[in-house]
Amino acid sequence: MMVRDLDTASGDWVRADDYVLEGGVIRPLRVAAFRRYHLDRVLLRSAYVALADQVAGGVTPGTWGVHPSLIMWRDKLDPNLDLRALNWCKEYGLLGLLSHQALSITLPPQYSNEEIGAMPGGTDDEPEWEPEYATVPSQRTHARLNGRWTTVVAMGPVEESLSAAGIVSVRPFRAEEEPAAIISRWDDGITRSVPHRWLGRFFPDVLPENYATFQWPRPLSSEFWPDYGEPVAEVLRVAAELRDIVRRIIDHSVTGPTLDQLNRLLGAVTITPVKLKTERIGRRLTPPSLLAWMTLAILRDAERSALRLCDGCGRFYTSDDPKSKYHSSKCQDAAAKRRKRGARRSARVRSRD
Ligand SMILES: [Zn+2]
Repeated sequence: MMVRDLDTASGDWVRADDYVLEGGVIRPLRVAAFRRYHLDRVLLRSAYVALADQVAGGVTPGTWGVHPSLIMWRDKLDPNLDLRALNWCKEYGLLGLLSHQALSITLPPQYSNEEIGAMPGGTDDEPEWEPEYATVPSQRTHARLNGRWTTVVAMGPVEESLSAAGIVSVRPFRAEEEPAAIISRWDDGITRSVPHRWLGRFFPDVLPENYATFQWPRPLSSEFWPDYGEPVAEVLRVAAELRDIVRRIIDHSVTGPTLDQLNRLLGAVTITPVKLKTERIGRRLTPPSLLAWMTLAILRDAERSALRLCDGCGRFYTSDDPKSKYHSSKCQDAAAKRRKRGARRSARVRSRD
């Protein structure tokens, strides 16, 4: 099943009905159906808690933020990490790292055979117009405008096409006027990269020898989702980062670098005008990815002091109740029993005295 182009102002995200882990990449099953689902507050909470608590568990806090290369021996830290990341994606979909990091994607020019006009042909008795074909250069740029990715196609002018077809001699199409590049925002601020390898890591089925001819789809479009996957190492790294940030927020130990990290995980969030049900105009935040949606939710919950660590088991959970201390009734009961035992013991000690 295909899904319409996603405008993140809708508050929706896309999920396949099943994912697999192949060659270090989490990707949808090749026969998977895709579905849009709404990211409400409850769902975003459960998504980021699951990612920052269950998926990122088993790694010493701080390790990944300091040495991302340590991801290489993650198997030694916890053999189930990959599986947990995969299961998380089965529940919520992929993080949207491509849309999160890329600001614009200018692809190298491609050449196609196009009908450019008609030439007089036929015989003197039966003159007719025959279509004329030529190799036409074109160049596509995908860019995100608020919540929506758009595509601009620059076509080579007809003179160039005629030139390419050997009909007239004019200056050739100058691809270097618009160099192919991906402008992205991640670790080192704004980065300019060569498109194919950068994109290739998200499209595991596209072989390097086909990079030049592959029609790299517009991000978050219906053609995009079936081929799109995410390296499990990157998913795990993000999970550990979120976990470390959440701990720092709870400990009141947020520093400048933590804010930089949060800023990066928030992505290029923009604001889009929307028509509300009452026919009035409102505004909506448009994060570029599920990762940015979750980071926004973490910030919102941090403002309300809803992020907590359980007094019983020490795990991370959320609650809107300012008096809440335990992540589950089980932890609360266990703590009550401990208190009772302690009280009985001290009572026995007192009676012996
Ligand atoms: Zn607990």
